[in-house]
Amino acid sequence: MFPVAVVTGATRGIGRAIVQNLSAHGISCVAIGSSLESVMRLRSDLKFTSPHQMHRTLAIDLCNWPQWTECKRFPGLSFSSDGLMKQGEYPIFDSGSKYYIDLLVNCAGRTQTSLGLKTSPTQMKELMNLNFLSCVSLINLSTRHMIRTVHRNASTTTPCIISISSILENVAIPGTTIYSASKAALSQYTKVLAQETATWGIRAVALPLGLVRETDMIQDLDTSIVDALKNLPSQTPKQVADTVWSIYHREGTDRAKLHENFP
Ligand code: NDP
Repeated sequence: MFPVAVVTGATRGIGRAIVQNLSAHGISCVAIGSSLESVMRLRSDLKFTSPHQMHRTLAIDLCNWPQWTECKRFPGLSFSSDGLMKQGEYPIFDSGSKYYIDLLVNCAGRTQTSLGLKTSPTQMKELMNLNFLSCVSLINLSTRHMIRTVHRNASTTTPCIISISSILENVAIPGTTIYSASKAALSQYTKVLAQETATWGIRAVALPLGLVRETDMIQDLDTSIVDALKNLPSQTPKQVADTVWSIYHREGTDRAKLHENFP
């Protein structure tokens, strides 16, 4: 059985660095972006360092929640280690295959470009759908698969869910009302979930980030927001990708120890 990581927001910035890093460590990736055009860009980022690796890129508009949750398959590309690439419609999770979901990284997100009073209902809905509600649906879908894997005792590490959040959940900067509320909701959901999934040894971690330079999100931000963030700790996408790897890999509990704790 071979581990798979599902990563949203994989086509650019932080998510892209996470997919590059995980695939270089031999993990198969399901990399999600908003459109077929954007997931096409990922081809050279997906590394093959293990013969059993396979990768999939999927186009899912996560603002379009809950409609996307009713679809079984999504347009995308499938890559195998022998260099084959196929375009088709694929599910996010294959049940009954020799691959199992071991990691979900909820990284897709969009920032706000207006004050709360000027943010339209449509913008509010899209921000909450993308930054929070789609994450919750993906967490629920992954957790069901992870529980099955734990019952089959198929993995050697403990499955992990990582929610990329923002320190704005605790810092009040004008122009970030809905964005920071969506990230606070995601963090709190993840923290409570961690208590619920501990029974199965599934870890859930919220990762609140400070300023991450070199991403498109920062280009889109109002300069007053970037100025306010300047004094807070900053990182590069590569550093965030290393942190994600260390949470997933180094802190992974040994499966045998887990069964001692949860017989
Ligand atoms: P980028 O703007 O560089 O990338 C955003 C990613 O989200 C892209 O892969 C994009 O896909 C995807 N995305 C956007 N809209 C949708 C959609 N409707 N459906 C599916 N996917 C979508 O962002 P960053 O890499 O900077 O940010 C990544 C995460 O980190 C976000 O959650 C953000 O809130 C968080 N964060 C970032 C900080 C920073 O300073 N950069 C600080 C704190 C947190 P596509 O290419 O298809 O549009």
